[in-house]
Amino acid sequence: MKAALLYGVRDLRVESVDTPKIGAGEILVKVKAATTCGTDLKIFQRGYVAGVINLPTVFGHEWAGDVVEVGEGVGWLKKGMRVRAGNSSPCLQCRMCQKEKYNLCEDMMWLWGAYAEYIKVPARIVTLNTQQIPPHLTYEEAAVTEPLACVLHGVEEAHVKLGDTVAIMGAGPIGLLHLLVAEKMGAGKIVVSDTIDERLHLARELGADETVNAKREDMVEKTKQLTGAYGADVVIEAIGTPATWEQTLKMVRKGGTALMFGGCPPQTEIRVSTEQLHYGETTILGTFHTTPAHFKKALNLIASGTINVKPLITRKMKLDEIREAFETLTTSKSDLKIAILP
Ligand SMILES: [Zn+2]
Ligand SMILES: [Zn+2]
Repeated sequence: MKAALLYGVRDLRVESVDTPKIGAGEILVKVKAATTCGTDLKIFQRGYVAGVINLPTVFGHEWAGDVVEVGEGVGWLKKGMRVRAGNSSPCLQCRMCQKEKYNLCEDMMWLWGAYAEYIKVPARIVTLNTQQIPPHLTYEEAAVTEPLACVLHGVEEAHVKLGDTVAIMGAGPIGLLHLLVAEKMGAGKIVVSDTIDERLHLARELGADETVNAKREDMVEKTKQLTGAYGADVVIEAIGTPATWEQTLKMVRKGGTALMFGGCPPQTEIRVSTEQLHYGETTILGTFHTTPAHFKKALNLIASGTINVKPLITRKMKLDEIREAFETLTTSKSDLKIAILP
């Protein structure tokens, strides 16, 4: 089969590799669409993920397809079914799983390799994190289940309430998903910042009340202005730099929550005002990844039309063009997600 292999920084090649063989409890899926993700882009630009990936590596983790082989002992999945699976499954046994912090599982099983003609889903992921896709849903919409699941986990932890003012730093796919979810949670006013006008334009179309181009305007000042110097109830950081994390803290009202969603480069730190933390009772919240329950909820929300992910998929390209796809995402920021169709 054909699969994209990453050899190093910006060195992505489509090669012929063995089609995976499945064992008991596993399924083989013909990938029909895989969507690009900020994490993939980081891996492409950096050429590695420390300690996680050995080069050359298959990658891609947002996908949907058709079941073509079913291993012994797999109950409900049948050949020909349209499915999606998450890129992880917790062990249910470790201390974090025992505390129901499934996203922090100490023995998480990960699944990469969506930019390929076929993907093998291991037994644990078949059991805990595979779903059938309703007939009316396209494969590329179903693929976006993964980032939406992560965002649902984040927004739930941040407790966005009816009428809240929510400020979002970053109008990439993750920032925009936060916008869509915060709206449904009943946010009263949503402010979104980015440095790319096209993205801010889309944010407005998707329901942002105010947008700020951070190249021209100061998001901290703007948020204060819009809230009568009060600050936003919830501020969501969806960029992932220490500087924007620190800005995020400057935009929260007393007793409000700063959700640090965007992962920063390794070994970075931020400065936090002790006064703000103590007298201002700021909650600084980090969330990472998501759980199988959120994956299920995310697919249901996409299927019911509650969350429309279509505007986030700005282009479709062939597996053979994957290098070009990532170069496009690196250079032009007007594309959000590209659906790779093998
Ligand atoms: Zn992703
Ligand atoms: Zn675990």
